[in-house]
Amino acid sequence: MTKYKLEYIWLDGYTPTPNLRGKTQIKEFASFPTLEQLPLWGFDGSSTMQAEGHSSDCVLKPVAVFPDGARTNGVLVMCEVMMPDGKTPHPSNKRATILDDPGAWFGFEQEYFFYKDGRPLGFPEYGYPAPQGPYYTGVGYKFVGDIARKIVEEHLDLCLAAGINHEGINAEVAKGQWEFQIFGKGSKTAADQMWMARYLMLRLTEKYGIDIEFHCKPLGDTDWNGSGMHANFSTAYMREVGGKEYFESLMAAFEKNLMDHIAVYGPDNDKRLTGKHETAPWNKFSYGVADRGASIRVPHSFVNNGYKGYLEDRRPNSQGDPYQIASQILKTIASVPTDKKAAA
Ligand code: ADP
Ligand code: MN
Ligand code: MN
Ligand code: MN
Repeated sequence: MTKYKLEYIWLDGYTPTPNLRGKTQIKEFASFPTLEQLPLWGFDGSSTMQAEGHSSDCVLKPVAVFPDGARTNGVLVMCEVMMPDGKTPHPSNKRATILDDPGAWFGFEQEYFFYKDGRPLGFPEYGYPAPQGPYYTGVGYKFVGDIARKIVEEHLDLCLAAGINHEGINAEVAKGQWEFQIFGKGSKTAADQMWMARYLMLRLTEKYGIDIEFHCKPLGDTDWNGSGMHANFSTAYMREVGGKEYFESLMAAFEKNLMDHIAVYGPDNDKRLTGKHETAPWNKFSYGVADRGASIRVPHSFVNNGYKGYLEDRRPNSQGDPYQIASQILKTIASVPTDKKAAA
């Protein structure tokens, strides 16, 4: 038997953006535990905005397991928060009620800022560094400093060790801003991996004395980019059948549901989706081929393949909840009829 360190991780009840929480328990298993072997656990919900003090117990229900590369015999356990009966999802538990479809593929591009001493990493104590331009995909100390790349590489290795489908990294447009991409099949699988990747980044940067700023417009109304979490998506029908007519019906549905999407695409998005800095205004839906100033960017490959493939919704922001984002995308897609004969 081996003693495993099980880190139970969940989303707390803070609004509009939940925080990640985690606590460890040690349990013996003959080999790396499966999801079915992991017991329910509890925590004090009165300390996480999930319960009142006089009746404070909430239940943690394991829903996904990942190896923890940072710990000997470490296990990362993504959990849903349940009511004390262990069966009813807690109101803060969005994952329990979202739409899912294993044929729907999601690629999330997580942008974020490294922050040190209350400002983006590499910013001087007063004023600003040289303007945006050379930082995006940049190389060299004067553009990316001496620590950011070390962190993103370490984070990449932690994600790969965990079995997370980390797909890539790039330095972003603002100084101190970076991106990583996570891909998954099914909304729960993709979003579990994104939350776990966020957790790993937050935990990793503790030892560097660096914070992760997920707010979508931390530098406010300036000439510095905000952070998004573009959601690339495709269903089996989009990949295999598609067609111009279906695409146009899909875009009409996205336009009709504009406000439902914005409602779950992350807080303060009006400050980011201004029409500047490669964004479309938050209150007007648009799409365009290769257009990074549109709400939805249609890749060239999509059109060249007969309107088949994936689309990029550029509106979700860096603080958005990938569970709710993926679910809303699936909801809108489900409202558009498909040609059953063609799909068969
Ligand atoms: P860009 O920065 O040009 O917008 P990225 O390369 O950062 O693009 O991200 C594109 C993401 O699209 C990839 O990380 C990948 O996960 C995702 N993707 C690729 N093909 C599909 C697909 N068929 N369905 C859903 N997502 C996809
Ligand atoms: Mn990208
Ligand atoms: Mn980007
Ligand atoms: Mn993108």
